[in-house]
Amino acid sequence: MTEKPITEFPRNASTADGRGAYCRPCHAKAAKRSRERARAKYAEMVALLSPSDRARLGIAD
Ligand SMILES: [Zn+2]
Repeated sequence: MTEKPITEFPRNASTADGRGAYCRPCHAKAAKRSRERARAKYAEMVALLSPSDRARLGIAD
């Protein structure tokens, strides 16, 4: 097995925001989608909480 210099590999290729996987415009779009998904998931989670859980977590109704 031949070792290659680390510089041949894109940075954070295994992460969701993987550098090298997207050009800038695509990366921005992917990040926006990811934020929207996270926000929707959060709203969904909050909707399932009881009032006491919301109070405990400091989430206002
Ligand atoms: Zn692109």
